[in-house]
Parts: sequence; structure tokens; C-alpha cells
Amino acid sequence: MSEPIISVANVGKKFGGLVALKDVTADFKEGQITAIIGPNGAGKSTLFNILSGTLKPSTGTLKFRGVDMAGMPQHDYVHRGIARSYQITNIFPNLTVLENVRVAAQAFQSRLNIWTDRNAYEDIEEKAFAALASVGLSERVGTPAKFLAHGQQRALEIAIALVADPALLLLDEPTAGMGPEETREMVALIEKLAADRTILLVEHKMKMILGLSDRVLVLHHGQLLADGTPKEIQANVEVRRVYLGQNDGYA
Ligand code: ADP
Ligand code: MG
Repeated sequence: MSEPIISVANVGKKFGGLVALKDVTADFKEGQITAIIGPNGAGKSTLFNILSGTLKPSTGTLKFRGVDMAGMPQHDYVHRGIARSYQITNIFPNLTVLENVRVAAQAFQSRLNIWTDRNAYEDIEEKAFAALASVGLSERVGTPAKFLAHGQQRALEIAIALVADPALLLLDEPTAGMGPEETREMVALIEKLAADRTILLVEHKMKMILGLSDRVLVLHHGQLLADGTPKEIQANVEVRRVYLGQNDGYA
């Protein structure tokens, strides 16, 4: 077996007196799509924040490609190949599609000293166009982001994450607020992106998750309730009791 791309061991997170995550242990294999599901407040975004370096765990360890990530600043996570999108749309509405991605590409490349290297500007431009092409937004480069449809705004956020060419992409509720058609397009995009990277996503749409994912983790009250294939999760009595029964069945 190959080494996991990322692993958490006994990870816990407290916010004051609130236990958001407790003793979570999981390995993630290279190349897989893993969905993290669970009721609101279960700790899904908190786990994402820890995996992407946005938050440090209160207890436990996080390893990326065997390297202990404790003490590393977030930009090191990005440079090592971990990128994420957020649960809430997180773009500059008045900037164009291209500008949104270019800002991200510039930030990513800032160490290359862009103000003195005359090739750097073209390089950034090229990276931005490539990221936009991979999410199907090449035709919209000059459009202010606020004029994009909701589904395209979410695709733009993914393009922003892709400028770092991440080996691990974390998507927090990528289809939130989408109808069936936009959801289908997002699923197709995720499947395409998964061809050459590892993907973790938080989602609520069960049919989508079960069709898309290689593996599903279920969080409940900050703890890992189940971890298995979509089939195993569907058949898991405990999961059905706490989660599947109350799902919206959307998509
Ligand atoms: P989920 O994404 O599964 O809905 P979250 O990870 O966002 O859940 O939240 C888990 C719990 O931690 C919730 O009770 C939430 O209110 C709390 N929480 C999350 N982030 C913070 C924070 N920055 N400060 C305080 N409490 C937080
Ligand atoms: Mg969340």
C-alpha cells in the first residue's frame, strides 16, 4: 500500500468550552474522492480547517506526505500542495473572473519576486488562464465576478484554489445553493479534477455523494461515526439513524 497523502491521528479541536472535534483518526489515500458528511455542527468545516492549515488542532497530529504539519504556517500548506475552497462564496465581486484568479496566482507566486522578474507576469497570466480553462470559465474572463451565475462563482473559487496546482483539493460544500443542473455540472467538474488529484469534499446531497465518492466519512458531534465505501455507509444502521433519514434528498 502506498503512503496516505494526508492523515490525522487523534485530532481534537475545542473552541472555549465547546468540543468541535474529538479524537478523529483517518488516513486519506492518494487519488481518491472522499466525502465528509454529517449533520450541521458535526465538525466538518472544522476538520477541513485543520486539514488545510486554517486552524491548528487542540490535540493530535496531522501529516501530509509523511511530514508533521504542526507549527507550519498556512502558506506552507499551500506550497506543499493543499488547497481549499470555502463553504461561503469567497470571491471579489467587482473584480473580473480573470482578476480574481490572477490575484490568487500572484499571492501564490509572491516568493518569486514578481516585481523584478519580467517573465513572472506572463507566468501568472498563464497560470490564471489554465486554471480558468480547467473549470470551464475561459469564455468569461472579462466578466465581473458578481455577474456570474451562482454555479459559475463556485467554479471560479475552485479555479482560485487550482492556481497552486494542489495535489490535495478540499471543497467545502461545493454545491451549496445549487439546483439539479448546476449540481450535475459541479459533479462533472469534480470528477474531471479527480483524475489527477486527491479530493475531499463536504456535502449534503446524498445521491451525489454516493455516486461520486470512493469513500465516505460520517461525523457526528465531532466524532467519527463511520468510515467506509458509499455502500457500507448506506447500509450502516447507526448512520441511517442519525443522518440519512433526515437528509433533504436533493439532487
Ligand atoms: P459543520 O461544518 O459540520 O456544520 P463546524 O465545523 O462548522 O460544523 O462546527 C462545529 C462546531 O464548532 C459547531 O458547534 C460550531 O458552532 C463550532 N465552531 C466552529 N467554528 C468555530 C469558531 N471559530 N469559534 C467557535 N465555535 C466554532
Ligand atoms: Mg460546515
